[in-house]
Amino acid sequence: MKKTMFYLKDFNFKNKTVFLRVDFNVPLEKESGRIRDDTRIQAALPTLEYLIDQQAKIVAASHLGRPKGKFNPQLSLRPVAQRLGEILPTRVTLAPDVIGEEVEKLKLSLQAGEVLLLENLRFYPGEKENDLSFAQALASGIDIYINDAFGACHRAHASIVTLPQLVPQAGAGFLLEKELKNLEKIIHHPAKPLVAILGGAKVADKIPVIRNLLSKASEMLIGGAMAYTFLAAQDHQVGRSLVDEQSLPLCQELLTLAQKNKVAFYLPVDHVAAPSPEEPEKRQILTEFPFPAELMGLDIGPQTQKLYTERIKKAKTIFWNGPMGVFEVPEFAQGTLVVAQAVAESEAFSVIGGGDSVAAVTQAGVVQAISHISTGGGASLEYIANETLPGIEALKEKK
Ligand code: AMP
Repeated sequence: MKKTMFYLKDFNFKNKTVFLRVDFNVPLEKESGRIRDDTRIQAALPTLEYLIDQQAKIVAASHLGRPKGKFNPQLSLRPVAQRLGEILPTRVTLAPDVIGEEVEKLKLSLQAGEVLLLENLRFYPGEKENDLSFAQALASGIDIYINDAFGACHRAHASIVTLPQLVPQAGAGFLLEKELKNLEKIIHHPAKPLVAILGGAKVADKIPVIRNLLSKASEMLIGGAMAYTFLAAQDHQVGRSLVDEQSLPLCQELLTLAQKNKVAFYLPVDHVAAPSPEEPEKRQILTEFPFPAELMGLDIGPQTQKLYTERIKKAKTIFWNGPMGVFEVPEFAQGTLVVAQAVAESEAFSVIGGGDSVAAVTQAGVVQAISHISTGGGASLEYIANETLPGIEALKEKK
């Protein structure tokens, strides 16, 4: 039987103390400590505004960076509290700690519609260690738990998986709801053809995603460094290109699975290569194997760009994660930018799974033309691979 999840509209929040788990893991400027990009704060606003409007007493909490279980003033949520105070039409107080007596007092003194932002959850090792007593301390005085931190849902941390079990009611916020609705369109009955585009460097991370997509996609377009592990698995000599030797057997297995499932599995047919990413002036186009021993593939070549653009044009659903080359270097960015443009021009329902591909569509200036850009790179990949996440399982049948 399918287990039910509850959403904001299922609850009565009036005068209830609500623990809102958000993802305020924003990039900070090194020197000034100012927020460099507040996209994640903006993404949580619909839920925050709704809870304020519904007269909830809001205890918001997030992690920020990697303080390794210790208090670190440089990773305080103070800049986030300040920003929230500017944006929200209510009083926002920053708690001096995450748990403890003072925080309890502040929770009790919250008025309906006010926000108390706890300090960085990762100041306590119990967060990452999923410690029960830490979760119990977080649960103190809480009536309803709402998770709106999609980007953290793949982590089995205390505030994500144990806390919802300890409070009377729990459910998902608007951002989590939107992420799930859009990602479900990729894994459940996608409009066909579903074209999956996968790139980036770490092939091992993406093997589970490719495996699951091979049961759903019509076509798979591979780029980035990981293409070279697949090409090496087909016994091609790829010079100095990045090859993950340990993943070779699994890549061979996936190539066989693609054939068995009749998924058209595309690998680059030409390459922009150079001795290293630092020597773009020495780049050349390679169309054949073996590659010269001193060269490495750093972007998909012009023929591949054309081929992938044609395949993308025919798609009805698109899932894309990972750049097609070392797009941080302009001379090796063209493949990624061409793919970004093609995805934007397509009429397909398109989902971008966070991370570097988001930077690419931003650079190409086509963000508006993408149906859904996920706020969680790791979380969206894990969701596509496993069709659920620890944080989502923890919410099911919990109202
Ligand atoms: P990932 O985190 O696995 O999505 O990998 C992203 C990184 O892969 C980016 O920093 C790219 O520069 C890098 N990358 C993409 N293509 C290549 C390539 N052909 N060789 C080396 N690195 C690459």
